[in-house]
Amino acid sequence: MEIKSVGVVGAGQMGNGIAHVMALAGYDVRLNDISQEALDKASALIRKNMDRQVSREAITAEERDAALDRIRTTLELSQVAKTDLVIEAATEREEVKHKIFEALVPELAENTILTSNTSSISITRLASRTDRPERFMGFHFMNPVPLMQLVELIRGIATDQETYEACLNVVETLGKTAASAEDFPAFIVNRILIPMINEACYTLYEGVGNVRSIDMAMKLGANHPMGPLELADFIGLDTCLAIMNVLHDGLADTKYRPCPLLTKYVEAGWLGRKTKRGFYDYRGDSPVPTR
Ligand code: NAD
Repeated sequence: MEIKSVGVVGAGQMGNGIAHVMALAGYDVRLNDISQEALDKASALIRKNMDRQVSREAITAEERDAALDRIRTTLELSQVAKTDLVIEAATEREEVKHKIFEALVPELAENTILTSNTSSISITRLASRTDRPERFMGFHFMNPVPLMQLVELIRGIATDQETYEACLNVVETLGKTAASAEDFPAFIVNRILIPMINEACYTLYEGVGNVRSIDMAMKLGANHPMGPLELADFIGLDTCLAIMNVLHDGLADTKYRPCPLLTKYVEAGWLGRKTKRGFYDYRGDSPVPTR
């Protein structure tokens, strides 16, 4: 199963990063979105990020130009269907993903591998609604894609070995490292990371420490590069809450109950950096703790 072309569905935060690394690794990329604005934004961002790599001498100007030439953006999903590997990276809503796969299936080439970059939705369930559960996998990049070394590869119950190996080969071609995970809620990274963030929220909620002391404690005491609350603001508090709910619903264990304070921040629309306020307030020159 040789993979030469990659289709990326969804040109948001993750989709543009995936297109970026795939094009630099030599794959022909079709990047699709329902919004022309998202496609234009993604193209501009990919160029800007590659320019930065050129100025840091991580890549040459020729490599940048060749990679940019390999990316085609399109509003037509059918353009993506004709590639060897499709990576769906659209909005994290299960019905959105089912609709995309439903529309793709009739157009797909026989051997195309289907994958999803979902952070938490069951790969087995997404696969079961397509014509090829054996050629369906979770292909989970970390954010920001060009910088993060890990890709989680998640097998659904029906995924065959050939599909797994073809995806593993793509990860290696990107110069990244794969961790193989079984298809249980939130896979490996988020299964461990998000409950830790939720516990930091409880530590704040119960008054054990304030925002600054909790983040400093984990940076200096556990050698984490970022404190858990600072990291929660970076990921998005709505995303953290959604993943806690997936763990709570999927594993039916009260140890995964979302912290009421996390829920309250989300209800307030204080979602972290993207809304300029979360555990820190980012509206001034430097972040100010909100508690
Ligand atoms: P985002 O909101 O930045 O981008 C989603 C994009 O999907 C938008 O541009 C939207 O227009 C597009 N879209 C929506 N419906 C579509 C459709 N039917 N067809 C084509 N495009 C469509 O979201 P994101 O952060 O890039 O997340 C995308 C996926 O990656 C999600 O499944 C998410 O769970 C996963 N993920 C996110 C992160 C993260 O840190 N943000 C990390 C790993 C995985």
